Amino acid sequence: MSIVSSVCCYCGTGCGVLIESEAGKITSVRGDPAHPANLGKLCTKGATLHLSAQAGGRALYPELRSERAATRQPTSWAAALDHVADKFNAIIREHGPDAVGFYISGQLTTEAYYVFNKLAKGLIGTNNVDTNSRLCMSSAVTGYKATLGADSPPGCYDDIDHAGVIFIAGSNTAFAHPILFRRIEAARKANPALKLVVVDPRRTDTAAEADLHLSILPGTDVALFHAMLNVMLWEELIDRDYIAAHTEGWDALRATVREYSPEKVAPICGVSAADIVQAARWFAQGPTLSLYCQGLNQSSCGTDKNASLINLHLASGQIGKPGAAPLSLTGQPNAMGGREVGGLANLLSAHRDLANPDHRAEVAALWGVDAVPATPGKTAVEMFEAVKRGEIKALWIACTNPAQSMPNQALVHEALQTAECVVLQEAFADTETARYADVLLPASAWGETEGTVTNSERCITRVHAAVSPPGEARPDWAIVCDFARRLLPEKGARLFPYADAEAVFNEHRESTRGRDLDITGLSYALLEQAPRQWPFAEGSDAGTARLYADGIYPTASGRARFHNATYIPVSEAIDARFPLHFNTGRLRDQWHGMSRTGLVARLYSHVEEPLLSMARSDMERRRLKDGELVRVKSRRGSLVVKVAASDELRGGQTFMPMHWGGRFMAGRGVNALTLDVVDPVSRQPELKHCAVQVEKVELPYRRAIMRRGDGASLLRQAQPFLAHFDYATAGLTGRDKTVLVFQAASVGPLPEELVQEMDAAFGLDDPLLTMSYQDARRGIWKKARVEDGVITGARLSGETAAQDWLKDLIAAGASAMDVRAWLLAPVTQPPAGGIGRGRILCNCLDVAEPDIVAAIAAGADLAALQATLKCGTECGSCVPELKRLLMAGRAVA
Ligand code: SF4
Repeated sequence: MSIVSSVCCYCGTGCGVLIESEAGKITSVRGDPAHPANLGKLCTKGATLHLSAQAGGRALYPELRSERAATRQPTSWAAALDHVADKFNAIIREHGPDAVGFYISGQLTTEAYYVFNKLAKGLIGTNNVDTNSRLCMSSAVTGYKATLGADSPPGCYDDIDHAGVIFIAGSNTAFAHPILFRRIEAARKANPALKLVVVDPRRTDTAAEADLHLSILPGTDVALFHAMLNVMLWEELIDRDYIAAHTEGWDALRATVREYSPEKVAPICGVSAADIVQAARWFAQGPTLSLYCQGLNQSSCGTDKNASLINLHLASGQIGKPGAAPLSLTGQPNAMGGREVGGLANLLSAHRDLANPDHRAEVAALWGVDAVPATPGKTAVEMFEAVKRGEIKALWIACTNPAQSMPNQALVHEALQTAECVVLQEAFADTETARYADVLLPASAWGETEGTVTNSERCITRVHAAVSPPGEARPDWAIVCDFARRLLPEKGARLFPYADAEAVFNEHRESTRGRDLDITGLSYALLEQAPRQWPFAEGSDAGTARLYADGIYPTASGRARFHNATYIPVSEAIDARFPLHFNTGRLRDQWHGMSRTGLVARLYSHVEEPLLSMARSDMERRRLKDGELVRVKSRRGSLVVKVAASDELRGGQTFMPMHWGGRFMAGRGVNALTLDVVDPVSRQPELKHCAVQVEKVELPYRRAIMRRGDGASLLRQAQPFLAHFDYATAGLTGRDKTVLVFQAASVGPLPEELVQEMDAAFGLDDPLLTMSYQDARRGIWKKARVEDGVITGARLSGETAAQDWLKDLIAAGASAMDVRAWLLAPVTQPPAGGIGRGRILCNCLDVAEPDIVAAIAAGADLAALQATLKCGTECGSCVPELKRLLMAGRAVA
């Protein structure tokens, strides 16, 4: 057995992990006690990384098709890359370099990001290289630059321990950055005076923990922040000395915020003026650490939201000292590293700006090329629009899944269909984007590659390979270099001479010399010893925990700038036709488009299927009950989904997790609905809000198929059948054994041919292995597959009441005798006592919600729950929910 240290590949917390492997397989993972981000802790997602590594579903060999209608065939690396080089060269010759584009990912290592950027801007001569970080962090970048002068988050995680107030805006930290939330919980325990203020339209688990929850109406953040500044002005809570010594633009902002009194803003935000006043007083009192994420970023005025929050820090002097800073939380593991190498269409290496001719000349000199093109590249949304218009003819997509994650999926799918050539560099073979790939290049995944990543607090960690990639998969950086040398052999060989990832890092390091993120003092050898925060200039013996302690900012004047914006409402207002707000966000146990987490059965046990959450009052008005089907429709598309009442939502609002795409449900998933209007500065789309209508759908004929086996293979088999239904979902369940759960609904029984096709696909057609009951008059037909006396699959048609307990039995490998009588009789009720375990709330220790509720009803408090059921004693991700259930239990009592 061998152990290597690395980093979790999910959120930007950047938790260190120790990966154990044996005989070329990753066997387990645990938190690295030496890593400063997590000190040995992992959340449910990180703690199951080894399961996703074992789950299969990988792209193993290069594949190629010569025409769109054909099926891709396996080929050699040489043939695949030569084919792409020929195609790109032909397109560039005929249409120019801007006829190709690269859409890459915040999940790539910094080294892979660096070579992609150099390939596009240095070798090919196009700035058409953008990334899924555009959907995630670009408004945080522009917010920092507009106020502090550089994309350099000033704070660090240690500030959590020094803060007097933690101000969380637009982040469900408990779900999206769980290990940071554990740290907040610990800080509050150590310092009961530490105040937590949460700004979020929903009463999330994060908000439920707060001393003050400002449940604002969607998109009203700028009005709220201005009103808080208004209070600070009125009550003389501003730091006039700091403003005078270290800022500019104060007078203009002060004039603006005078119009934003708490009384005037309260109805705009939907919160009380008293709460705004309270939030302002606590904020000014400090030390205040702001943590913020997509609620501010994914907005058509995301730059204004970010910058208006930073205004509060500058005006009250809450910056540059322990516990006082704005600190944006990165959604992806290396969104920060991508920004460092300039991996966006408007940036250049080491935080340089494409629009700056001096910066372009510096980068051209560093790379040894005549020039870097001046024309701005297409940003994410613009890139797909350009592909659809035929301006970009060849698109290379790496380590991301735009056919699930981009807003306005109708446009994205049309664009991918229109492109002359789609190259997909990807570790997983079955993503929603894969079917559009003319060339599939298998990439190494987590645990199989070398490099570095940077987390939310500017901390760079070495990423190590624990095992070799499977099949012929290769590291992302190596694929790019090989392609570059084939595209333009002489120049490619000169610009991409790297023997390993370290050589790429060393060149990137040199590009940072003298810049705000100077890492010339770092090396792979030093990073082997411990992660380090930038800046870390040559001659330093330590990284820099906090920035701007001296009040000097990287602007022309050395002063921070107040950002003077006015409040602008959301882009798509609700109206009579689309009367409900639609919001998206994260689940606790899934990540992004589920390419990886969606292959781990136990990660579905917290939330097992796509649901639309609605306020109870809105459901009652529409005569909707939990579990009924609704059609949710926006101006761009629609989907059919089960509805669930939620106490987290105010009336008029709906919510759906961002993760569900066309691989897991009929249609194009949640982003069929979302809006692609972008912030004018950051070009980040407003994924967080659009207007929808919701209406009940009558599809009375329900069907459920459950089948034990390999999760990735079963999901692949289920995929083509989703398209036959208005409502259908495919997901996994189980703990040690994996079971596919396919649900569908239709107006009536399905055509016989389709029934047989589905039975055959899931092994429910062999009469020697299948028990069957059919009531043709009532349209009920049940089947169960039995192997060696164990039930390994079932199909319920016309009546699915047994679904929950039956899937638990299949996952547990139960004897078929337990269900024989039920299967062979015309009864709809399950056997006595069989109701299913219910939702698994503690994923680490497999504790179900009904058991927790029963213990609470019997008088258990949190300590008793942890002592008896053990829930919440491992990663702690379920603790906020345990507290919520305890509160609800107390309310009932
Ligand atoms: Fe990974 Fe969880 Fe840590 Fe994020 S908080 S890096 S998902 S272990």
